[in-house]
Amino acid sequence: MNTKRILIANRGEIATRIARACRELGYTSVGIWTDFEVNAKHLEFCDEWVFLPGKNNRETYLDIQKILKLAEDHRIDGIHPGYGFLSENGTFASACEEAGIVFIGPNPKAIKSMGDKATSKEIAKKAGVPVVPGSTQAIPTVEEAIKIAKQIGYPVLLKAVAGGGGRGMRRCDSDQDILKNFEAVGREALASFANAELLVEKYILNPHHIEVQILADKKGNVYHFFERECSIQRRHQKIIEEAPSPFVGEDEELRKRLCNTAVTLARAVGYDSAGTVEFVMGADRNFYFLEMNTRIQVEHPITEEITGVDLIVCMIQGAFGESLGIPSQEWIKRTGHAIECRICAEDPITMLPAPGKVTGFETNFPQGTRFDNCLYKGLQVTPDFDPMVGKLVAKGIIRDVALRKMRAALDGLFIEGLKTNIPLLKEILREEHFLSGHYNTNYIAEFKPQEKINTDFDHHRVYQVLATIEVRRFGR
Ligand code: ADP
Ligand code: ADP
Ligand code: MG
Repeated sequence: MNTKRILIANRGEIATRIARACRELGYTSVGIWTDFEVNAKHLEFCDEWVFLPGKNNRETYLDIQKILKLAEDHRIDGIHPGYGFLSENGTFASACEEAGIVFIGPNPKAIKSMGDKATSKEIAKKAGVPVVPGSTQAIPTVEEAIKIAKQIGYPVLLKAVAGGGGRGMRRCDSDQDILKNFEAVGREALASFANAELLVEKYILNPHHIEVQILADKKGNVYHFFERECSIQRRHQKIIEEAPSPFVGEDEELRKRLCNTAVTLARAVGYDSAGTVEFVMGADRNFYFLEMNTRIQVEHPITEEITGVDLIVCMIQGAFGESLGIPSQEWIKRTGHAIECRICAEDPITMLPAPGKVTGFETNFPQGTRFDNCLYKGLQVTPDFDPMVGKLVAKGIIRDVALRKMRAALDGLFIEGLKTNIPLLKEILREEHFLSGHYNTNYIAEFKPQEKINTDFDHHRVYQVLATIEVRRFGR
């Protein structure tokens, strides 16, 4: 068997996920450990592990030279970057290529063309893909920003060209708002992304975030795997996603147009891996290109659940120039409905990160659920990493069944020792507007599910369940 050695240049749940895909392929997975995560759960899933010295993320997971050196020292054939860290770094992808190591992601040119929100909008526009009205180039001055805002009409969004993870965005409703915010957003963008450039675009009111999963190989085949709706967000970051989108619903004509538009864009940039084309869709069902994420996304499991295709396995196969095993687009079918809840170490009411140590962890899930996670008793969640510790996914034959399973799964997930957003997720999964499927990105602001949470009740229940289990297991 033609085995390969894969270095997983990431941590957390995605590292465990990639290790499982390597196992399926019969490839050797090599995990990374650092001084901060000596006991990381992903290491249990890897066949081998290597030490990456350094004092912080910049000196470890973000250090291109160190990672390449590790790869060379350990005879690595391919590097999977996961999401975040170096996953959308075109320089890293090029450096891998030069070192003769396969970067498990798209070609550097595709990463670079979709890498900033100005260039990618320009490319999309040229490819005939509808983009959000506004600038497709960085705005040099506040006067220019106001001029564009007047042309497209308020409200507008000031957006960092290099932004990501929901940061570097501010809604402005008047000239005064722009005057007040332009410099501040620029400074924020400079601090977070080392680039102060801003765009001005129309703020689409009460929109839906709908995105299309793409998978392409190195032979010119581009496939779509239908859409996901990710409109349940806080601070422009997703917390619950579902596939298919309840808003697109039974409108197969719209679905087809949306998916074909994503494929058109992927072809226009010579895309050759897994990626996602994100759109905002207004209440009138018009949709506009937002950005393309040139990596595997957090919420990829719901697409896997409704199509039965392992996207990470395909991504690895494709990167080595192998066939994806997909005869044609028509073979990609969807059945049922899948929902994902991001489980984060955060205060359920303020929704702000709440680091801490996991002192107990148990699960009791219904059939049809999947939990991609990096949890274990003793896990220390620190502010240095993303607070997301797991992704709970439920699948049902129809949406109502998936909802029922998700409620049961959330009720059967017990994490003790730190605050999590589980109480918030439980509220949303019982809230009528979410249940009806009539919601948009304004959902949390509009319905304030966090105000109904009784955290004392939840903490008590977790404590009680875990204590009972201890007694039964150890008789004390
Ligand atoms: P990021 O790179 O941070 O993911 P995106 O451009 O994808 O940035 O936007 C993140 C979220 O912000 C979207 O899902 C949506 O909720 C909101 N958003 C972005 N652009 C607009 C817009 N023009 N109008 C309304 N909401 C927007
Ligand atoms: P997805 O679009 O895959 O659902 P997110 O937008 O939530 O994912 O981002 C996935 C991960 O990548 C998160 O850890 C987020 O903080 C990080 N991330 C995304 N874009 C950037 C960026 N430009 N800079 C820094 N971190 C980013
Ligand atoms: Mg986005």
